[in-house]
Amino acid sequence: MVLILANWEITEEGSRTWPSPLDEVPFWKREFPSWNNVTTVGPTGIRKDSDSELIHIVHVTAEMAPIAKVGGLGDVVTGLARSCMTRGHKVDVFLPFYECIDREQIEELKLIDTYSSYYDERWIETRLYGGVVLGIHVMFVEPLNDFFKGESVYGGSYDETEAYLFFSRACLEWLQVRGTEPDIIHVHEWQTGGLPLLYWDMYHYLSLKKSRIVLTIHNMEHYGECRQEQFSKCGLDGSVYATEEKAVDDRTIGHNPERLSLLKGGIVYSNAVVTVSPTYLKETLCSGWLAGTLIRHRDKYFGILNGIDTEIWNPATDAFLPAKFDAKKVEGKKQCKVYVQRGLGLDPEGDTDKVPLVVCITRLVAQKGLHLITNAIAYVNLLGGQMVVLGTAPDARVGREFEALAHSHNQGSNIRILLMYSEELSHMLYAAADIVLVPSVYEPCGLAQMIGMRYGAVPLVRKTGGLADTVFDVDDRLQPEMANGFVFEGIDEGSLNQAIDRAFSYYRQKAEEWRGLVKKVMEMDNSWNNTAGKYIDLYNSVRVRDQ
Ligand code: ADP
Repeated sequence: MVLILANWEITEEGSRTWPSPLDEVPFWKREFPSWNNVTTVGPTGIRKDSDSELIHIVHVTAEMAPIAKVGGLGDVVTGLARSCMTRGHKVDVFLPFYECIDREQIEELKLIDTYSSYYDERWIETRLYGGVVLGIHVMFVEPLNDFFKGESVYGGSYDETEAYLFFSRACLEWLQVRGTEPDIIHVHEWQTGGLPLLYWDMYHYLSLKKSRIVLTIHNMEHYGECRQEQFSKCGLDGSVYATEEKAVDDRTIGHNPERLSLLKGGIVYSNAVVTVSPTYLKETLCSGWLAGTLIRHRDKYFGILNGIDTEIWNPATDAFLPAKFDAKKVEGKKQCKVYVQRGLGLDPEGDTDKVPLVVCITRLVAQKGLHLITNAIAYVNLLGGQMVVLGTAPDARVGREFEALAHSHNQGSNIRILLMYSEELSHMLYAAADIVLVPSVYEPCGLAQMIGMRYGAVPLVRKTGGLADTVFDVDDRLQPEMANGFVFEGIDEGSLNQAIDRAFSYYRQKAEEWRGLVKKVMEMDNSWNNTAGKYIDLYNSVRVRDQ
């Protein structure tokens, strides 16, 4: 007889059978008691905000973890929402009802309303569903046209710009029809950057008076380029916004036709604009074509570091881990490492502690330092370490490059390149890793290094954006109390290799200190409890108080 216990098989004799690459069902695709360890109530010890200060926040977003997550945006919406709820605030999330969303992960899903919302001189019949995801009340907007159909969150065969403009208006339309006026409408990225324009130039004149708008920019790479006639389809005249002070994309000035930028419009029209780390705030004020707009609106532009949801990311309770652990009892981490090594067919290191396992879990896009990731694969292999890359490449050329790398490495015993998205495997990899690599060219905040730390993986990062705000080099003598990882500055392979050399010799030659470092990174507080308060303060500074 074989018992299945947290996906680790224990035979009748009490010995364990390990997963193997030959298993019919890969170990990360087994059945898990998914998310049932994550409760609606946040971590204990969080104080509730005073009753008179409690507000209603509505997020309007293109992503939400875990049901519609592509990258950090999804994590941030879920983590921030849950943290605000823990403090006693009322939070709702509006999300497109993507066809790819797994309905099974939504509790209490039901149709709330059927209504019409405007698009391109017509009124589109739209359904609004309500449901609960990780304790958060979510409203799913489903237009009865081809928007949001397809196998993934992004990349469907509809016009994404128009679909998100429709979505932005459909959320406001519903709030107006139902007479709901939240204190704060919190929009994210270019996808919902059109909402502040619709709010102030249309719905505010109709009946929505009370709400104030906060925009968070998670990544300045995408500006939401939009032709004027595309914008006009949402019901506002696009040509009115084609000015430097409003939403024209400055790079297109003098071209025919000039274009709009939904992100720029969002910056101009929101009551407050946040980006996701203090260093990225400084970087964005100094470079990029939006710097001028951000400088003009400097008095309402803030840098608030993201946090992680320490209940979702908790190695002591994580349902996906074969063995649990925490900073006080780290033995389980070693078991997770051996489990992953066995499951992926990597050489288990035994008790030698000489084979550091590096993981890199990322979207494979230029921002993430693709040349540095490929270099790390070769260098880690050369040094006799192990490395697992878990990533997806939206660009076909990059995908082919990494497939070729996978082809040449995946039969060996040190490197695995896994080109897929798996929430489950990502949890197991963070738990198994000795080192989490984040070699980004630029990184607004970065969650991987924070999640890695929570799971006892020491971060090795490039000094940029939020990575510079969260990781401090062990060899930096100026602030030893902050030291928690390995940092390099250059964008070249040599700089990365030096950092890998330092990390590997630390791991191999200073075992005791390494254990101390693992404990230290696990004890660091990168949770939302630390930073959500800054958002609440910001919400309070812009909201309209009842007389
Ligand atoms: P970004 O938002 O730029 O993608 P972040 O570091 O802020 O980068 O957040 C990335 C999030 O997405 C993390 O939670 C990371 O674990 C997750 N992630 C990225 N790629 C994958 C993948 N292939 N499979 C599972 N999770 C992934």
